[in-house]
Amino acid sequence: TDTCVLVCGGGNAAQVVTGLLSVRYKTIAVSFFADEAEKWKTALGNDSFELTVEGAAVNKIVSKPAGITNDPSVAKDADVIILAVPSFAHGEYFEKFAPYMKPGTIVGVMPARSGGDILFSSKMGEKAKDMVFVGFETLPWACRFSEWGRKATILGTKNTILAAVTPPSAKAKALGTLQGLLGVYPFIVESPTNLGISLRNPGMIVHPGVMYGRWGPESWDGKAKAEKPLFYQGVDDFTETVLLGMTDEVQAVCRKMEKMVPGLCLKDACTLKQWYLDCYDGQMTDTSTLKGCMNTNKAYDGLTHPCKGEAGNYMPDLNYRYLAEDVPTGLCFAKGMAEILSMPTPTIDKVITWAQGCIGLEIMVDGKMTGKDLAKTRAPQGVGITTPAEFIKLAKLEPKG
Ligand code: NAD
Repeated sequence: TDTCVLVCGGGNAAQVVTGLLSVRYKTIAVSFFADEAEKWKTALGNDSFELTVEGAAVNKIVSKPAGITNDPSVAKDADVIILAVPSFAHGEYFEKFAPYMKPGTIVGVMPARSGGDILFSSKMGEKAKDMVFVGFETLPWACRFSEWGRKATILGTKNTILAAVTPPSAKAKALGTLQGLLGVYPFIVESPTNLGISLRNPGMIVHPGVMYGRWGPESWDGKAKAEKPLFYQGVDDFTETVLLGMTDEVQAVCRKMEKMVPGLCLKDACTLKQWYLDCYDGQMTDTSTLKGCMNTNKAYDGLTHPCKGEAGNYMPDLNYRYLAEDVPTGLCFAKGMAEILSMPTPTIDKVITWAQGCIGLEIMVDGKMTGKDLAKTRAPQGVGITTPAEFIKLAKLEPKG
């Protein structure tokens, strides 16, 4: 077809998406990271990219991207732009593409994490009203490159995946186009609003909450551990109270937003326990409590805390993405929303206050979202939003009914 797609990034996910789409569409890989585009071009040379799909009938996909570049002006011909890159890098792509993008461009972000639509709108400026943002709750595949720039493997494909479209009027066209690109699986399930995707983000609760519960000032003596503690299956009563506190605070934000915007539906922004029931059905032997869902979840067998050091002498890796990504582009969004709504979030506050020191950012000062590094986070305050009215406008939340 004539559809022109840009795939952004150069890691596992971006390589897989490039390989997958190049077979049927004019696909250009774009990376702004250091000299990654040049390196990728050199690595591939005149050869084709080889994608292996584990467990599929046709398990080898051989294709050639139409280009690999760091030139943002390729956005002028793009019908669809896919971001398959860690969330801290999203802003740079939005900003560099903005001057070139044509009206109606569909920008799909997988995963969007939290507040991706707000960042997008603010970077697009005047152009935002003509652009379509599609936030995916996660990446559709578990995947790894096997030979950088040349070969990659899809280890598993999700059956279904939630995605929300901003503005809602573009829903049918955007989701139809993206489903066409992805193929039959995963089946894209429409979520009513990107605010729901943002406040659903389970990683923003689970990862910082479990890190705080184990390594925070209330529970850790600062001494090395002989073994790496189990991450999910090691959640204890104290950590559970932290997780429940955080998830409840987010629920309160959801209910207040729903009151404020008639017709707004945040059903996908469920509690963490509900998320486990929905996503891991049949894999847990005790679902009576949140702790039970995590401790008895087979999918988590063997998963430990990120640590440094060696057996007998492990220290936590407090700069791992569980804090370095999930706090700035997850939890900070939720905290920022709560502050805009004047709602107290004592549990989230103590987690952010501890985590910001671990990752070397100044986010909260004296309990307020005023730190100098706010712009590096997805807190709406980072793009100057401090009132509900400003947020509702930038999020394009159209009151219904
Ligand atoms: P990755 O770590 O392979 O991505 C690395 C890429 O990120 C680099 O190639 C570069 O393009 C970019 N990058 C790295 N450092 C940068 C910097 N300082 N500045 C700008 N860009 C930089 O990640 P991935 O495996 O491709 O995953 C992408 C996203 O999908 C992540 O959010 C990840 O958590 C999520 N995810 C991945 C999988 C998977 O199976 N790979 C599964 C679920 C979710």
